[in-house]
Amino acid sequence: MLLVRELSKVYGGRVAVDRLTFRIRPGEVVGLVGPNGAGKTTTMRVIAGILAPSAGGVEVDGHDVVRSPIEAKRAVAFVADDPALFPQLTVWEHLELVAGLYRVAGWEDRGRSLLADLQIADRRDSLADELSRGMRQKVAVACALLHRPKLWMLDEPLSGLDPRGIRTLFDAIARHAAEGGAVLLSSHLLSQIERACSRFVILSGGRLVLEGSPDELRARLPDLRGDASLEEIFFQATEAREPPTTGTA
Ligand code: ATP
Repeated sequence: MLLVRELSKVYGGRVAVDRLTFRIRPGEVVGLVGPNGAGKTTTMRVIAGILAPSAGGVEVDGHDVVRSPIEAKRAVAFVADDPALFPQLTVWEHLELVAGLYRVAGWEDRGRSLLADLQIADRRDSLADELSRGMRQKVAVACALLHRPKLWMLDEPLSGLDPRGIRTLFDAIARHAAEGGAVLLSSHLLSQIERACSRFVILSGGRLVLEGSPDELRARLPDLRGDASLEEIFFQATEAREPPTTGTA
């Protein structure tokens, strides 16, 4: 579903992502974690086709994001950590706009059910400007999912959501994966995403330091206890002097 191959992204002289390789298969929910500045958002923005790679490549559902940008974008949903909405459009008008851009036929039922699932159906006629931060985040999620993308990419989606919103999102993620979709989720809230993800990609300084299921990660960090949490894995992996040996996806 997603193949990131030897991807590098350089801003000016600064290397933000350095020869990053990983893949996500259908049915997988993968957590992209790493300290501030590790390159998580940059990686997602390249996958979403917002930034061009400096080197290497990305394929979404078999479509190269540079050579086949329209097909690749159709297969992906990207919810940014600070989603931009149009202040003077209502919630429903945002869905209408996205439906037009992606040419989603019969989008109204899907729109209504997304708003109901996200518990913002009663705000469909509110202007974006009148919504709370968490509500704006939910609108961004609804807009991103309207065209039924196969790969969901959510950058720090939990920071503005209330506990019910988080549970609703995790339920939707689990359903999407069970139906053969794939999800890439970035968050610093490790204890929250630990239960939602089957595998983790840990970045530091733009490079992959470790990837695998929690059991695989623990096995590659021999100093850790067998029941070490994702947080303990994170510290051990990102604060180690030498990057541990990485596995393949
Ligand atoms: P955080 O957890 O803080 O959100 P991140 O892992 O998402 O961090 P990025 O936002 O991808 O990290 O940033 C990776 C590196 O790229 C950082 O060194 C950052 O300063 C740099 N960077 C990001 N965006 C730009 C930009 N538009 N111009 C120049 N440098 C940038």
